[in-house]
Amino acid sequence: MTGKLRLATTSLAGCFGCHTSFLDIDERIIPLLERVSFDRSPLTDVKHAGACDVGLIEGGVCNEENLHVLREFRAGCRTLVAVGACAITGGLPAQRNRFDVGALLHDVYVAEPGLTRRGVPDDVELPRLFDRVRPVHEFVKVDYFLPGCPPPADAFWAFLTALLDGREPALPKELLRYD
Ligand code: SF4
Repeated sequence: MTGKLRLATTSLAGCFGCHTSFLDIDERIIPLLERVSFDRSPLTDVKHAGACDVGLIEGGVCNEENLHVLREFRAGCRTLVAVGACAITGGLPAQRNRFDVGALLHDVYVAEPGLTRRGVPDDVELPRLFDRVRPVHEFVKVDYFLPGCPPPADAFWAFLTALLDGREPALPKELLRYD
């Protein structure tokens, strides 16, 4: 492709482990930056994703803010990529799905010893929790899935360089993780 690819990344209900794995491309970040510019990402201080070529979404959807950010990415990014187990299946955060949210919050903030017992936080700034953590494809169209917990750095590298070279990304078996 001509010009730089505009890339946005964010984490919804994730742990930023996928972002950390991306940074494990190490010194390859230098040649990548010659071909890519970052929009919203932990690497920048951009608060809202604008028009981008590619959006990498880590994490599932657990609250209203996650959904708002996901829709913003979908609206702005030509290609949307669900990165990691949490984005693809809900992953680890989805383990709460078999419990009632209200009962969980009560147990954590009211009933259990060792915590503040000041009641369930109810600041209006806090996004409302959904009853379940759900994968991103249940809300928006996803163009590619990059599996793994996290996907290895080489998978990010292979995926992005394929897009940059105008090739259809197709990862070899050894870069596809299902942990
Ligand atoms: Fe973290 Fe794994 Fe989820 Fe990525 S897939 S956000 S590394 S728990």
